[in-house]
Amino acid sequence: PYEFQGKHVTVAGLGVSGVPAAKVLHGRGAIVTVVNDGADERARAQADELEALGITVRLGDGDTLPEGSELIVTAPGWKPDKPLFAAADRAGVPVWGDVELAWRLRGPDAAPWLAVTGTNGKTTTVQMLASILTAAGLRTAAVGNIGVSLLDAVLGEEPYDVLAVELSSYQLHWAPSLRAHSAAVLNLAPDHLDWHGSMEAYAADKGRIYEGNRVACVYNVADKATEDLVREADVEEGCRAIGFTLGTPAPSQLGIVEGILVDRAFVENRQKNAQELAEVADVDPPAPHNIANALAAAALARAFGVPAQAVRDGLRAFTPDAHRIAHVADVDGVAYVDDSKATNTHAAEASLAAYESIVWIAGGLAKGATFDELVAKSAPRLRGAVLIGADRELIREALARHAPEVPVVDLDRTDTGAMRAAVQEARRLARTGDTVLLAPACASMDMFANYNKRGDAFADAVRELGSAEG
Ligand code: ADP
Repeated sequence: PYEFQGKHVTVAGLGVSGVPAAKVLHGRGAIVTVVNDGADERARAQADELEALGITVRLGDGDTLPEGSELIVTAPGWKPDKPLFAAADRAGVPVWGDVELAWRLRGPDAAPWLAVTGTNGKTTTVQMLASILTAAGLRTAAVGNIGVSLLDAVLGEEPYDVLAVELSSYQLHWAPSLRAHSAAVLNLAPDHLDWHGSMEAYAADKGRIYEGNRVACVYNVADKATEDLVREADVEEGCRAIGFTLGTPAPSQLGIVEGILVDRAFVENRQKNAQELAEVADVDPPAPHNIANALAAAALARAFGVPAQAVRDGLRAFTPDAHRIAHVADVDGVAYVDDSKATNTHAAEASLAAYESIVWIAGGLAKGATFDELVAKSAPRLRGAVLIGADRELIREALARHAPEVPVVDLDRTDTGAMRAAVQEARRLARTGDTVLLAPACASMDMFANYNKRGDAFADAVRELGSAEG
């Protein structure tokens, strides 16, 4: 175990990970200095709280390495090309992220980790996995972006048998010694490239999740890049590569046979070459990308030895989080679906693929994305499109190129009330049996505080339609 007593540790960044990290390190006897770029009101309040404990805080100076630093613990979002890290590199000072810190603080009998990363579907998959593990009678938690924080899971009172851990590419970048029991990379599409520098660097950071796996590296058969990462990983002897597919599974894969989720990787009964786990209808929502998430969760659970019955019970008990393909209401025979969490084109493509005839509400902040592929693939399913937000023009141009017959309403608005107008326009375009789908393919911050608020605005507008009706 790492000895923190008397060590000079620099915590880079206040905020959700920095403040608890500083407290824990201080509690372990480290001499902690926090450095932070900003010096706004919130930072000052956090600094006051830490200084009262005897922790040094330097506001507005996030790039000077404090004299005598022996270790940096950074907020995962800090970019690797920041001058602070160049200074650390020159001085030979190691840099850990929040995940590395949690990993190093685990006790000797700590619960093993089943880890999940990918461009999209992480939260959903980790929650499904926790639901399955719970159904198997195991003490567990879904850890990551939502739910229990990593530090709490590792240091809290509660004893766990196993943890279902969501990891971002940033966190993996700063977690060199993490060794999961088993891990899955769900998919790989360009995202956060400004942070990582290139697609190669992004993929390499995601691939770290497989390093040192003991039982299974779970990959997506339909996404060859994930399989390549397994091949490149250095794993424990006997660790297996396990694929998941929406098609018929080969040996060492989980997949679908006639509407049944089937496991051909971990088969208990040697007489059989496949184990039935659950029905596709047990997955909510039963959209293709979400069935893939369920298969990935099932693969990790099975790698941990969970029986088939618990996979089914866990999937049935699972309800998706808000704003992830959430069915809001039916009005006039039209379904209204909120996938505000589709904040990039890869996610939006998945949700558009789940419906037949769609009036699509899209737009927001594009974050440097291009929309040609998304629109070209989705064009045959579009009844119409309603565009809002700062970068809607990019989507309008892609629609003009690849779906010229699809009627488009360009609202030319970025105020919060635009969502109400968008829902009303969508209603005009929709026919009975259609789905009005909010899948913005963009971030929300041009119009809303976050994707939750955007989804809430959509749902409110839909309910207004419904009550005007009644
Ligand atoms: P993450 O935690 O990776 O952001 P979520 O589970 O919160 O993922 O899902 C985010 C969005 O990504 C969903 O609303 C949906 O639009 C899309 N999505 C979910 N799973 C997948 C998948 N396996 N492939 C592609 N898109 C997906």
